[in-house]
Amino acid sequence: MTILLIEDEKPLAEYLRGNLDVCGHGVDHVARGDDGLGLALSTPYDLLIVDRMLPALDGLSLVKRLRQAQNRVPVLILSNLGGLDDRVEGLNAGADDYLAKPFAFSELLARVNALLRRPLRGSDEPSLLKAGDLQLDRLKRKVTRSGQPIALQPREFSLLDYLMVRQGQVVTRTMLLEGVWNYSFDPKTNIVETHVSRLRSKLGGDMIQTVRGSGYMFRAPVPDAEVG
Ligand code: CA
Repeated sequence: MTILLIEDEKPLAEYLRGNLDVCGHGVDHVARGDDGLGLALSTPYDLLIVDRMLPALDGLSLVKRLRQAQNRVPVLILSNLGGLDDRVEGLNAGADDYLAKPFAFSELLARVNALLRRPLRGSDEPSLLKAGDLQLDRLKRKVTRSGQPIALQPREFSLLDYLMVRQGQVVTRTMLLEGVWNYSFDPKTNIVETHVSRLRSKLGGDMIQTVRGSGYMFRAPVPDAEVG
């Protein structure tokens, strides 16, 4: 896994590079925004860690330019500005996560690992997921069963997307927390169970099965004609 770190504070850059290296992540480092953008566009990195305030090209403009170029590499923004508006601005610019300075290395590492585990939202990813008569359209954000629309809340939609991609595989609660809620910690609530249960009742049938002691498994609905 190779990470590109774009950070102009030298001591912080050295600290991050050293610690990420110990954790098995190779790091390339540049200090200027324009250099970082050029490198990110020419080299297939697994993740970018981008400081928000950079010489020559600021972090948010860098991310916007990357996304305009259809580059979907996961981006974690680091910033001295940690207010809600700043976070929202960062995410709207196309970043995947946002971490305010100062931060604990363990938190940065948890976020880095969560981003690296996520499947890339590349243009080669299908826009339509199908399982039996169930269809999920990622572009229109619509779910239908036998052509009949099923109204889902945004989080239920993401949950179904995550499960459908992993049909027939066991999906743990931790995977759902990280992949659907973007939590790198256990919130100690029944948030997952509640959403699974709501999704189940909206979908009907037995598509989301509980795997005792492990998690959940999505199975394509059996078409009526084949039943019995
Ligand atoms: Ca800076």
